[in-house]
Amino acid sequence: MATVASPKVYKNYINGEWVEGSGGKAIEDRNPANRDELVGMFPSSTEADVNLAVDAAKEAFKSWRLVPAPKRAEILYRTAEILVSRKEDYARDMTREMGKVLAETRGDVQEAIDMTYLMAGEGRRQFGQTTPSELPNKFAMAVRSPIGVAALVTPWNFPMAIPSWKIAPALVMGNTVVLKPAEDTPYSSYNFVQVLAEAGLPRGVVNIVNGTGPDAGAPLVHHRDTQLVSFTGSTEVGRIISEACAPTFKKCHLEMGGKNIIIVMDDANLDLALDGVLWGAFGTSGQRCTAASRVAVQKKVYREFTARLAERAKALRVGDGLDPETDMGPTINEQQLQTVIKYVEIGKNEGAKLTTGGHRLDSGAYSRGWFHEPTVFVDVDPNMRIAQEEIFGPVVSAIPFDTFEQALEIANGVVYGLSSSLYTRNVNNAFRALRDLETGIVYINAPTIGAETHLPFGGIKNTGNGHRESGLAALDFYSEWKSLYIDYSDKLQRAQIDNAE
Ligand code: NAD
Repeated sequence: MATVASPKVYKNYINGEWVEGSGGKAIEDRNPANRDELVGMFPSSTEADVNLAVDAAKEAFKSWRLVPAPKRAEILYRTAEILVSRKEDYARDMTREMGKVLAETRGDVQEAIDMTYLMAGEGRRQFGQTTPSELPNKFAMAVRSPIGVAALVTPWNFPMAIPSWKIAPALVMGNTVVLKPAEDTPYSSYNFVQVLAEAGLPRGVVNIVNGTGPDAGAPLVHHRDTQLVSFTGSTEVGRIISEACAPTFKKCHLEMGGKNIIIVMDDANLDLALDGVLWGAFGTSGQRCTAASRVAVQKKVYREFTARLAERAKALRVGDGLDPETDMGPTINEQQLQTVIKYVEIGKNEGAKLTTGGHRLDSGAYSRGWFHEPTVFVDVDPNMRIAQEEIFGPVVSAIPFDTFEQALEIANGVVYGLSSSLYTRNVNNAFRALRDLETGIVYINAPTIGAETHLPFGGIKNTGNGHRESGLAALDFYSEWKSLYIDYSDKLQRAQIDNAE
């Protein structure tokens, strides 16, 4: 009888140790390109595990907040160095657990490297404000101060980058964290935290509790000792988290769904725009929060452009992301694939015209994975559900328009506001789009994806709640301003009263 190697069993990381979950249940981390491959087993944690992790983080906060920021940053710097040396291994691990092609998982690890270096630099740049006091012999300044335990809840589509966007700024600002990674992709978060531990992070400063949203995420968000909550995921769950934070006024950062658009004007470089739409729509199988799921094309070039788009989409090679020949990997799981299939049906019933794709791929080499054809709908009305709702799969809806003003109206006519893009050679329209597109990120002559870590990242409307990830903006979320007044006059000076004399 053939022997089967037992799957690797992973643990939670609490108070500097890898420990089993208390409930004894496990979650399978399977390869979406081949569900027979079990990448690992991770604990399905409960409230009891969350409590241990938050207790550890709360205790660690007492000393971590007092470690000088440049010293905290040195650990981040070492973390980034180790990540650089293991980039290829971690990219392969990530492709195995979530399916996107190697070039993209390398990019995901690179983003974690960039963010960690960036925040290492911030250890020596936590500038405050000094300002004259309105009273004599009095000194005034404002400094950033750490807040406490941060509860971090992350999605599966950027399984190392997104945890790093939250962990690195939280730590450099002196907070401690408990991370609840997505249940589909715990391995990449494990790899990131493993490196932080190796780089010398004191016990309890970072903790991971694996598990489902309701069993592990919810108790973490509700816990009375988590003062900060940062969540990236669907708008539906974001709303639940927002409500959970409201009664105790927790500082809560939400990054949620999108319905991003690329606008192609008839004066654009159409070859460039086509490359951009293919990358924006089908990168990560359309499962990026910034994915271009709408393309609005000016009527003069609409027929030509959409015909070429269908042709190019049809030619994309779908397969295992580890294969260098593959252009597009699988969707993450059966549920996500069913969502894509459901929206294809909705689009057809709404009267949109399917020009390529539209089917699940399940024969031959595809039979053990969750694959779907790259799919293009044309002649889509902007009010159709496929043009309004987030699909999160390899489906793009082409919408014709006459004027630039109409294009802006279509672009802004959705509840989301994450990313948008305009292809044009008209500088006036480019600047108007930069001003008038209602999204947190706008690109000119580049697709809707491709954010860099040193700029703020986030959305408006139903995509975000006013905070930003990345860049210096991240420091604002992970710290509180404290205003400090030092009176050296040796007498009572009353602001707004004595200075009027
Ligand atoms: P999801 O909302 O289903 O899950 C996200 C995380 O929340 C997971 O870790 C999950 O376990 C947890 N969760 C679920 N229910 C919870 C609850 N009741 N309490 C606490 N935690 C809970 O999202 P997903 O399917 O993992 O990711 C896809 C979504 O994420 C898409 O909508 C996408 O647009 C969005 N996303 C947004 C951004 C952004 O920056 N705006 C980035 C990436 C992904």
